[in-house]
Amino acid sequence: MSETYKNFKENGKKIIAVCRNYRGLTAAQGIPNPEKPVLFMKPTSAYISQGQNIKIPIRCKLLYHEVELGVVISKKCTKISPSDADNYIGGFLLALDMTAKDFHNEAKEKSRPWFLCKGFDTSCPVSEFIEKDRIPDYSDVGLWLKVDDVMKQDSRTSDMIFSIPEIISYVSTYFTLESGDVILTGTPAGSGPVYGSQSIECGLADIVSMKFSVVDTN
Ligand code: MG
Repeated sequence: MSETYKNFKENGKKIIAVCRNYRGLTAAQGIPNPEKPVLFMKPTSAYISQGQNIKIPIRCKLLYHEVELGVVISKKCTKISPSDADNYIGGFLLALDMTAKDFHNEAKEKSRPWFLCKGFDTSCPVSEFIEKDRIPDYSDVGLWLKVDDVMKQDSRTSDMIFSIPEIISYVSTYFTLESGDVILTGTPAGSGPVYGSQSIECGLADIVSMKFSVVDTN
């Protein structure tokens, strides 16, 4: 079988992200748990890898970090059931869903789309492809993030509201998923600001970690 999905940065066509998917996060924000997955998209031009910097977008004064487990889709699928979803997982990645929080707040306030606040260049730092067998139980794996060596997010995927199979099934109800497409599964509690010259280090238990510097181009 072709494994071009492993090079998801080059071969994937879309990044679909879920928000408000951790109980700890909705509790901390005092918002109800969503009754169905809440989706948005990032363009694949948002990807960066270790060695590249996260750039605070022009006019953004408040950039937030969100560490997330990403799923790489292995083959084309549509309208699949949760029980069939595992057959379409090619592997995983660790991702940051960087968010221009001031733009985000304004978009929410004025009922405008989230495209800019979530999709700007460098808004999706990612790890290398993670083989499926390196995460034997994706429904209960640790996810952590430090800013300048201070722990800010430290949770487990067992705190998710919608499971990965439920998310894949829901997304595929409305969007055809293709080889190399990525689904970001939401961030746990502790998302917060990061400023120029700070660094973000994050990991998936002790399976994989990555580090990025933040640069203020304003
Ligand atoms: Mg997110």
